[in-house]
Amino acid sequence: MKLAFIAAALSLAAGPLAAAVKPVPRDARVWAAAEAARAEQLKLLETVVNIDSGTGDVEGGRKVAAVLIPRLEALGMTVEKVPAEAPGLPENIVATLKGTGKARILLIGHLDTVFEPGTAAKWPYSTAGDRATGPGVGDEKGGVVAGVYALGILRDLGFRDFRQIVFLIESSEERGSPGTRKLIDRLLADADVELNLEPGDAPDVITVWRKGSTVVNIAVKGRAAHAGVAPQEGRNAAEELINQLKGTAQFPKTGDGTTLNLTVLDAGTRNNIIPEDASATLSLRVREKAEAERVFSALEANARTTVIPDTRVTVTRQPSFPPLPDNPATDALADRAAAIYAGLGLSLGRGGNGGASESALAHEAGVPALDGLGPVGGAFHSDKEWIDLRSVTPRLYLLTKLIMDVAKTPPARHARTR
Ligand SMILES: [Zn+2]
Repeated sequence: MKLAFIAAALSLAAGPLAAAVKPVPRDARVWAAAEAARAEQLKLLETVVNIDSGTGDVEGGRKVAAVLIPRLEALGMTVEKVPAEAPGLPENIVATLKGTGKARILLIGHLDTVFEPGTAAKWPYSTAGDRATGPGVGDEKGGVVAGVYALGILRDLGFRDFRQIVFLIESSEERGSPGTRKLIDRLLADADVELNLEPGDAPDVITVWRKGSTVVNIAVKGRAAHAGVAPQEGRNAAEELINQLKGTAQFPKTGDGTTLNLTVLDAGTRNNIIPEDASATLSLRVREKAEAERVFSALEANARTTVIPDTRVTVTRQPSFPPLPDNPATDALADRAAAIYAGLGLSLGRGGNGGASESALAHEAGVPALDGLGPVGGAFHSDKEWIDLRSVTPRLYLLTKLIMDVAKTPPARHARTR
């Protein structure tokens, strides 16, 4: 693709710009290699997008792994299939490349999507204009495939100036990585930097902060009764749940700060019985951990008062990912990325979003982390998911050059926060 066209197309709307950066001169060899890889890269992307691998689809996850593993091995990587730490999940892939330098670089991606089996048949990978669509095309198969090609370019260029590059392709990120936590901790303990292949946000933004995500559950116990003969004997759990949900309205549903959104509702079994049980699941997203405590205690306080007499309300939670707060280590990596992109005449925006990822775990473990390095896209987790095809080659260039950059001067680990 013609560089000038890309520059014009992407930089026009690059979003919130970081401070002016000193461009890293364009590396013609890496750019040429990224351009040359494009057709194959998109072919591989089509192949893996057209394989359903929703979290928990063991067969699907293994099929995707069976496509990726030979390519990683062909790059001279040692590939391990590490059993998941929770039932009903396919193995995680850990590919390792040893070098002659000093940096320990950890790339993290995930092969699981949020889409049900059968989705790819109904909505296979396709392109129209500047966009490609399909289940998981952005989140996160586009990023994982970019990781494979970045490693390919390094191999072709004979770049070995690192101690090790470890590429984790995990299988349960979309459920908060229940099958990978110990493995992630083990790999982080042996890493100087983590680069995460989640998609970039439009128009051309990398991720420097992320909200933490907690699943909150409100369960109400009432008393069943015949809805016709003796409704007064019942204690309607569904009605009490509605009252409790009114109490959640005090928290924002949108925005860059704390949000609390109702995602699953369940009540009643039959149309002629006063419901004895009712429950709701809410997605709590916070920028700071303390916020999760504040919201949770407020919901617990609400639960102590009920409108429907003799009903009991229980509030529970499952923390999935902590927040990735704004932090100097990530900002410094973002500066490096922006300088590399500036060498292409492109400006890289930086921002954050409510989606959680493993980068927050890296930060908590004291490992400098940067996120959103995959191709740019949007409408993730929906049947409108897309990536911007114009971003594919610049983002592959960025990822490859960033690996080379942190290999030469690895950032220092910082204090753990967990
Ligand atoms: Zn993702």
